[in-house]
Amino acid sequence: MAGQAVNVLITGANRGLGLEMVKQMLETYRPVKKLFACCRDPDGPRAEALRTLAKKHPDVISIVRLDAADLCSIKQCAQQVGALVGTGGLNLLINNAGLLCKSALQETSPEEMQNSFTTNVVGPLNIIQEFLPHLRTAAKGSKMPGMSCRKAAVVSISSVLASMQCVKDSYSIFSAIPYRISKAGLNMLTVCAAEELKKDEILFSVLHPGWVRTDMGGEEAEIDAPESVQGMLRVMTSLTEKQNAGFLDYKGHTVPW
Ligand code: NAP
Repeated sequence: MAGQAVNVLITGANRGLGLEMVKQMLETYRPVKKLFACCRDPDGPRAEALRTLAKKHPDVISIVRLDAADLCSIKQCAQQVGALVGTGGLNLLINNAGLLCKSALQETSPEEMQNSFTTNVVGPLNIIQEFLPHLRTAAKGSKMPGMSCRKAAVVSISSVLASMQCVKDSYSIFSAIPYRISKAGLNMLTVCAAEELKKDEILFSVLHPGWVRTDMGGEEAEIDAPESVQGMLRVMTSLTEKQNAGFLDYKGHTVPW
């Protein structure tokens, strides 16, 4: 991609779709100035592939600890990122970290609902709040008109399972009550944030990545992570104010709410 170099942050960047986003951002979403690859255990075994990648691109990738379920870590991460981006601000924040709890209606416990909400809704809300100053800095400093992911944007990875209209087609195969309800909450958060922050020219949208072969999607899923991420990055590149508060899939098709 041509244009001014952007600062990007991805949560849950140590495996699955998040790690693939880091890889492809380096290859195709250029120019990326700083890429904050966030994960909850940067020194742990599950971040080994990310550490290897970061060693190859030390000027671009910074691995920063962020646990979406821990407000303290979100605040610390926002401080660290703020110090590194300075007056450039943060152009693109991708809320990718997510938790899948597959429980059916009659088995779902209050704890499962709470854990799903903590990671999938409260986490993204806290992240938006804490990173807002850096997103505003990016929007104000940009000379580009309108809205875009190169100016200031929050893209959250949701799921077609959050779509109320699609329940009748998918529910008998996969009920996943805590997941569906929490991702629907993430969708509402996105639409509200889009409404509140349109004056600041910060774009908000949710994407469905497809059914993808990751730890979460399983081996039976339809597509692999490179295909999903290739599609999502293409969609992110195309977003303008027309898609503010939008729900799109990795092919760019609108998903019904
Ligand atoms: P995944 O392979 O299970 O990876 C999940 C990622 O989220 C991991 O990096 C994990 O980190 C991180 N994470 C979980 N809880 C976290 C927390 N509290 N704080 C920080 N990071 C946390 O899943 P994926 O398939 O890559 O999914 C990525 C996103 O796409 C999720 O939001 C998911 O809901 C969405 N999605 C996936 C599919 C699919 O078919 N795969 C379909 C629709 C939507 P750890 O390694 O520390 O656990």
